[in-house]
Amino acid sequence: MVKQFDIKIAIEYEVNLSEPILLASKNLKIKDLSRIKSCKLIKRSLDARKPEIKVNLIYEAFIDEEPSEEFLPFKLQDVSKSKQIHIIGAGPAGLFAALEAIHKGLKPIVFERGKDVRARRRDLAKINKEQIVNPESNYCFGEGGAGTYSDGKLYTRSKKRGDVKRILAGLIQFGADENIAIEAHPHIGTNKLPQIIVEIREAIIKCGGEINFDKKLTNIFYENTSIQAIEINKNKKIEVENLILATGHSARDIFELLNDRKIEIKAKPFALGVRVEHPQELINYIQYHSNFDNELLPPAAYKIVKQVNGKGVYSFCMCPGGIIAPCATAPNEIVTNGWSPSKRNNPYANSGIVVTIEEEDWSAFSKYGALAALKFQEDVEQKMFNSIPNNEGQLAPAQRLIDFVKGRASKDLPKCSYQPGIVPTRLDQVLPAFVANRLRKAFDLFGKSMKGYLTNEAVVVGVESRTSSPVSIPRDRESMQHTQLRNLYPVGEGAGYAGGIVSAAIDGMKAVEKIIKN
Ligand SMILES: Cc1cc2nc3c(=O)[nH]c(=O)nc-3n(C[C@H](O)[C@H](O)[C@H](O)COP(=O)(O)OP(=O)(O)OC[C@H]3O[C@@H](n4cnc5c(N)ncnc54)[C@H](O)[C@@H]3O)c2cc1C
Repeated sequence: MVKQFDIKIAIEYEVNLSEPILLASKNLKIKDLSRIKSCKLIKRSLDARKPEIKVNLIYEAFIDEEPSEEFLPFKLQDVSKSKQIHIIGAGPAGLFAALEAIHKGLKPIVFERGKDVRARRRDLAKINKEQIVNPESNYCFGEGGAGTYSDGKLYTRSKKRGDVKRILAGLIQFGADENIAIEAHPHIGTNKLPQIIVEIREAIIKCGGEINFDKKLTNIFYENTSIQAIEINKNKKIEVENLILATGHSARDIFELLNDRKIEIKAKPFALGVRVEHPQELINYIQYHSNFDNELLPPAAYKIVKQVNGKGVYSFCMCPGGIIAPCATAPNEIVTNGWSPSKRNNPYANSGIVVTIEEEDWSAFSKYGALAALKFQEDVEQKMFNSIPNNEGQLAPAQRLIDFVKGRASKDLPKCSYQPGIVPTRLDQVLPAFVANRLRKAFDLFGKSMKGYLTNEAVVVGVESRTSSPVSIPRDRESMQHTQLRNLYPVGEGAGYAGGIVSAAIDGMKAVEKIIKN
């Protein structure tokens, strides 16, 4: 039989815990140790709500039976001569669709507009150091997708527990630390993610799959309800039987292409706001009740949500010990997001703080139809760029948090991790007024529940606008087929069905299952 037990213990005593078998004997009251065939830690979480910080540990023990063999999440087999499946985009959705195809005996052929992770890194250095944005290779485009140079947070609100477990096990299969399956809030870190992506690519190619870089989808040809062929780089036509479209939420040209080709898409609510950065020490102090022992505790995170006039304002993608990243995909716009290395050991804590943008908010752009929300988003990003006189490229507008809340200019700014540089700007005036107002009130409320949060040492940087897609590509709920083109499978964040690495990966994986079923 399999039994679970849990232990709650002050964090400083965790190192003194006995071997798992002995813990099982004590907690399950089994004196004969030979009956306990195996016992291991399966979940670990921190409880920092009170000054005495505790860890919650859940163990699983096999009593009188041997544990089942470790399952291999993705079977790697030769698919070089198998039926083909075409995938656009090598982000989490596209790559896990490719892995699942191989697992199920199909040959994945992936087209990715960007470069492989190593070549891509040089383009990121250019954005940070020379302020040059390559529209095909940046923080959003390239091998591994938008999540490659991220904090690699792997928690998700997805209720599909089995699928989440499989994605985490899959990441471990390709080199991630085994702890990601145990920690309640696992993350991988920017320094480790690229190597995992390389391992995934090499496995796909070794099995006979294909990943083609610098290959952009530029057209789709269809008749009635079926795609016949796709065009790559405006010069190569390829016939396809099924197409998984996993191009992410920043591929504006894809949304425009679908709209032009009269393939149904819809404007959808999305989130927009600012990235706020505090000294990490301050966040540790607030979250750990001034009780921070950096030997025992990880740099503190926070998650906060407040209602302002009946609408939610919330933190998103909080990066402890992180860096604010320039995530624009075109040279004349400013977009922020955040990343952290695996140790989360930078002196800053940043987080997106966003409000939901709804139909009534983008009404000024309604002439663009299904692209109205996207045009609103683009307009705000360009206003950020234009708010800085003679912007050298990726300088971002910023304001001290208190000045933002009080509606006044900042004379100077604190140090900030955003590498291209920040410029004191009335960000509260550059943002749409309703966004600035909601944020202002929310920050005030945040300051009341997290004492010390509302400080002159914090800075807000604009604009956090790519947390979710402003467009959805509608599909049948059950079959995942596009509502109009039956062999098109729109997946992941760009299609509006995922919000993060894990949920995008699950969505890509599921599409393969549906293609086989359909
Ligand atoms: C800096 C940053 C930090 C983040 N941090 C986290 C985090 O810690 N945890 C988390 O869960 N999420 C994080 N996210 C969000 C996460 O990266 C996305 O949710 C996830 O990558 C979405 O996966 P996807 O496969 O749907 O799309 P994407 O990852 O966007 O991948 C789409 C891919 O398609 C390619 N593509 C686009 N158009 C074309 C075309 N026409 N032809 C061919 N290829 C094309 C792109 O180049 C890209 O590689 C972060 C995002 C960023 C930018």
